[in-house]
Amino acid sequence: MNIIKNFLKAIIILLIITSVLIAAFELSSGDGQSRPFLVKKECLEGMKKIQGASYFYLMERPKFTGEVSVNELIKYGYMEQLAACKFLNSSRSDNYKIFYKRDKNEINFIDVACENHGHLSRQGDCDREKGLPNGFVDNYMARVKTRFDLYK
Ligand SMILES: [Zn+2]
Repeated sequence: MNIIKNFLKAIIILLIITSVLIAAFELSSGDGQSRPFLVKKECLEGMKKIQGASYFYLMERPKFTGEVSVNELIKYGYMEQLAACKFLNSSRSDNYKIFYKRDKNEINFIDVACENHGHLSRQGDCDREKGLPNGFVDNYMARVKTRFDLYK
């Protein structure tokens, strides 16, 4: 009996090790299928920082109506040095465009756009797939779903 118990124990441990290895492999897929997503996510996070910095920049300059640039935001200490979008090797961090609307002292709207990934404000709709390979979102979702079904 002891032999069978030990054998089962060994199999269970082996299964656990295998699943941990699989999970580690899936999560470390820096250059796997999910890389376009990671690049985009990083870019969107950068744009959110620009958006926040622009808000304070504009708040402190009620009469300013010109163009806000990333270089300016960094120069005046509203944000730290920003990595460029990694979509293209030739991207520059100051290629981000900042749009804003203000009515008297009220800032109504601040949007940031990356030439590769589109507008920050449109990620819920028309720019959702911008910067991702054609059909990538659908394929990726199907893949994730299939994988999930396997474990059910
Ligand atoms: Zn980008």
